[in-house]
Amino acid sequence: MVEPADLAGAGAEVRDVEVLVVGGGPAGLAAADAARRSGARVVLVEGGDDVGGQYWRHLPAERPAAAEAQLHHGWSTFAGLRRTLAGDPGCEVLTGASVWAVEPGAGALVVRVLVTPSGQADAPGRRHLALRPAALVVATGAHDLTLPFPGWDLPGVVTGGAAQAFAKSERLAVGERVVVAGAGPFLLPVASSLLDTGARVLEVAEAAGPAQLTRGWGPLLTGGGAGVFAAGLSGVGVLAGKTRELAGYVAALTAARVPYRTATGVVAARGDGRVEEVVLARLDATWAPVPGTERVVAADALAVSHGFTPRLEVALAAGAAVAGSGAGAGFVAVDDRGATSAPGVWAAGEVTGIGGADAALVEGALAGLAAAEALGHPAGPEVDGLLRRRRVLRAFADRLAAAHAPRPGWLAQVTDDTVVCRCEEVTAGRLRSVAQATASAADAPAGSRSLRLTTRAGLGPCQGRVCGHAVDAVLGCGLPASTGTTRPPVSHQRRPLAVPVRLGELADLPPATTPTSPATSQPTSEETP
Ligand SMILES: Cc1cc2nc3c(=O)[nH]c(=O)nc-3n(C[C@H](O)[C@H](O)[C@H](O)COP(=O)(O)OP(=O)(O)OC[C@H]3O[C@@H](n4cnc5c(N)ncnc54)[C@H](O)[C@@H]3O)c2cc1C
Repeated sequence: MVEPADLAGAGAEVRDVEVLVVGGGPAGLAAADAARRSGARVVLVEGGDDVGGQYWRHLPAERPAAAEAQLHHGWSTFAGLRRTLAGDPGCEVLTGASVWAVEPGAGALVVRVLVTPSGQADAPGRRHLALRPAALVVATGAHDLTLPFPGWDLPGVVTGGAAQAFAKSERLAVGERVVVAGAGPFLLPVASSLLDTGARVLEVAEAAGPAQLTRGWGPLLTGGGAGVFAAGLSGVGVLAGKTRELAGYVAALTAARVPYRTATGVVAARGDGRVEEVVLARLDATWAPVPGTERVVAADALAVSHGFTPRLEVALAAGAAVAGSGAGAGFVAVDDRGATSAPGVWAAGEVTGIGGADAALVEGALAGLAAAEALGHPAGPEVDGLLRRRRVLRAFADRLAAAHAPRPGWLAQVTDDTVVCRCEEVTAGRLRSVAQATASAADAPAGSRSLRLTTRAGLGPCQGRVCGHAVDAVLGCGLPASTGTTRPPVSHQRRPLAVPVRLGELADLPPATTPTSPATSQPTSEETP
């Protein structure tokens, strides 16, 4: 446990905070705003150069667009939140401020933050804060989830999120002739933003087939989705923004004559030094490629996304439990108002389940109000309305998850020579042979940690953020695999350091303050080495 005396000597600026919000995306902004409306004093820390998160990622302040609002959905909501919080003396917004560790402290968690001087990415001389929040709201969002295939490590193959980030924050296209593939509604904004930046989108390949899509989307479209239209207010009204957004993407793709093919997946990317062609195939109902249906598309870029996986490090370190299978690790378990299993810790937005920006806004507001209320600042009458909106949006998100969730047959595309862990260059064949060699050992169920240590899969710079779910699946745990689940998932999300930290910065801490363990223990199959 970190004692106050330890902190004072740590070269850190030590501060007690009423409500600390981690993450400046839709959920974090809404949480900060709601907590302020209740009267709590708030500090919001955001690791990026500006607030906005993934949904409102935008051009840098020094190169603003003439009409940024036209490039985004719901920009006025974002601009309003940013303006309100920036002009509020009771709210401090720190950008370039990454939470890198959370430790148990005397009476409060100690949240360690490194603040980078403005506009100087990875600059030396970062400011070190040790914040002791009375209430913590975790709104750290999600990463891309990409299922591997032969050639996914070629230059020119990028995640859908990376293609989006280039388009939104640089107005650059990742290529001139781009294939967009994977699964989920996110493929549509990816294709649309590529078109906006002048790329030619050759096609959008959606892995889910008509039956899977109908099961997910059908009840929504016909008005029978359980929970969606049964929340005491018009589900249609709550979902109107999403419907307009979807219609906009469909119109953009139609105008550019971009084919949208279902039950289609990428089975390989090929090229000499970078991607030159993409091999697509029809997928069966399990997402296994149908032999003989392969076709080759000449392209100079491929953007692939199969959904999102939550950024759990801060929540786990704060002692919050996760639930569900998610992408290998599940999501932070919360009640309707965002309370986690850890006292004094709330969570909101994608870290609690993939739901889109509207859900993140509503959940952020609920969590901010609940956190403030726990500190003696009662919430107003808005809670009931927010809870009803949340029910509608969550039901919608559950439907979408069902419509696009990965099916077990995807693993058939992962040949033995496919690199699964790109940092350490570990192939699927190597993982499979080591898994097979240890399968009959008496300690097999606990063996996945040793498998990772043996193969080094997931131990490189990405620390399993990109490959962790796929490593689990190839080993037969976590994501659905064709072999079934036989081992407990590897806890690749449990990382002692949430973001990279210089050794010198760690060395500046006195020994007693060096982070050791999560704030409270939580049942997990294995610890990250
Ligand atoms: C790459 C990507 C692109 C997306 N693009 C779209 C899109 O175009 N359209 C759409 O409808 N949905 C998109 N989504 C889904 C989108 O994330 C959500 O709909 C919405 O932004 C979720 O809001 P959030 O606040 O939960 O998370 P986010 O918007 O992800 O915000 C989380 C914030 O927390 C910050 N953070 C994380 N960890 C730390 C830390 N340790 N310290 C400090 N700050 C931290 C991050 O920098 C980020 O700004 C995208 C998702 C991803 C992963």
